[in-house]
Amino acid sequence: MQTTTTAGTENLTAFRTLINEIHDLNATQALLGWDLETYMPPQGAEMRGKQMATLATLSHNMMTGPQMDEHMTSLRLPGVKEKLSPVDQALVREVGRSYDKSKKIPVELLQAMVETTTEAHPVWVEARKTQDFKKFQPVLGRIIDLNRRMADHLGYEDSPYDALLDEYEPGLTVKQLDPLFARLKSDIVPLLKAIQGSGRAPETDFVFNGQFPANQQMAFSRLVLEAMGFDFLRGRLDLAPHPFSSGSSTTDVRLTTRIDEKDVFSALSSSMHEGGHGMYEQGINPELNRTPLAEGTSLGIHESQSRMWENQVGRSKAFWQHFYPKLQEAFPSLKSHSQEQFYAAINRVRPSFIRVEADEVTYNLHILVRYEIEKALIEGRMKTDEIPDAWNARMQEYLGITPANDAQGSLQDIHWSHGSFGYFPTYTLGNLYAAQFFSTARQQIPNLEQQIASGNLLALKDWLNKQIHWVGKSERAETIVQRVTGQPLDAKYFVDYLWTKYGEIFALSRN
Ligand code: ZN
Repeated sequence: MQTTTTAGTENLTAFRTLINEIHDLNATQALLGWDLETYMPPQGAEMRGKQMATLATLSHNMMTGPQMDEHMTSLRLPGVKEKLSPVDQALVREVGRSYDKSKKIPVELLQAMVETTTEAHPVWVEARKTQDFKKFQPVLGRIIDLNRRMADHLGYEDSPYDALLDEYEPGLTVKQLDPLFARLKSDIVPLLKAIQGSGRAPETDFVFNGQFPANQQMAFSRLVLEAMGFDFLRGRLDLAPHPFSSGSSTTDVRLTTRIDEKDVFSALSSSMHEGGHGMYEQGINPELNRTPLAEGTSLGIHESQSRMWENQVGRSKAFWQHFYPKLQEAFPSLKSHSQEQFYAAINRVRPSFIRVEADEVTYNLHILVRYEIEKALIEGRMKTDEIPDAWNARMQEYLGITPANDAQGSLQDIHWSHGSFGYFPTYTLGNLYAAQFFSTARQQIPNLEQQIASGNLLALKDWLNKQIHWVGKSERAETIVQRVTGQPLDAKYFVDYLWTKYGEIFALSRN
């Protein structure tokens, strides 16, 4: 027995070295990816693709090679786990998760997925351009079949969709998601109807249709990010056509934003969103660097950090009490409108066809449409030729509008052409987690609202660092939610947040 346990732990240093090296390759790949989206010259794409593919192959080979086989076998021997520190236990758990997945999926299936999605991307672009779903349908059908095969190899209990969800939100199942979405549907659809029936439509042109120079917008984004506590000694903000954030360690986090010179709010809003992601990465215990534990624990929790800064803070009255006079100084045309008018404008609610342009109230209804369709496709209850009608019927039922064409409907998102099924629900989870965390933060941080109103955002940042960021991926999402808020995820907090906020703006009473 003694020799068995020693065999498990004596190679821990070698295991850690291997993990560090794999992580270095992945982090380098992320940095090349950031450069590709920001500063790479236009003709650099082909060689960059090869460089990134080489790194990906090296990392995959190390993850599945004989050295890793040995480590995984010995670290999983009976009695070994108990000898490991909690962090090493989490490390073995998370590495083991990726290791098992890479062993379960046959190489030919992975290759077929890469080839099919590479082929699908230009087809999707063309189909969207010509508003013709039928062009995309055949290759989409093959992507769905490949995803169903993936699910079979990965294994699941109730729904094959569970196996795909697990990729983005470890442990999440349809059984947990269905009641969350049911609650959102039953509470948000009537809220939207009440808002539309209120007859109130705030003036918005002074925010979204003016002239706001790009360099000043960038400067304002930086000012707010600094106030939030984003550390520019350990991060950057640059421009990219599609805003994103990426990190290679807690000391190097890259944010991007996109500027529309007619719109004074969108760049700031996306900077705050990406800043929330970036501060999560900066806030992780640096001792976890160079391991897969130095990441957000799940996409849903990651998104909760960005949504909280973007919405609970960036679209709040308190925040603009401090920052609106500063915004007016930077952009004098805003002096014609009050803080109340600005607050109403940035919180306008109107059903629209495009998810990424949706407001806080309607956003999750867009996700609900996708969730129901994805689940039916993966469970084999819907055929690809039924997608456009299924989409339009749901848009009409939940949002009261019907897309005029497929580009406004089922062709609008890039995700399916990438082969990503099970990703969309993490956006909604982010909103739900954000509301639940923020509700706890308000109870635990004295005078949080007054602090925000006086421009002090650091109390919230410190609380998030301590409660959520520090553990990185060493705790699972559901453990974090339970520990921080004292209960499992509940859609109630988000629904209450919406009704309280929009009830006040549109003078509604909830019955
Ligand atoms: Zn995000």
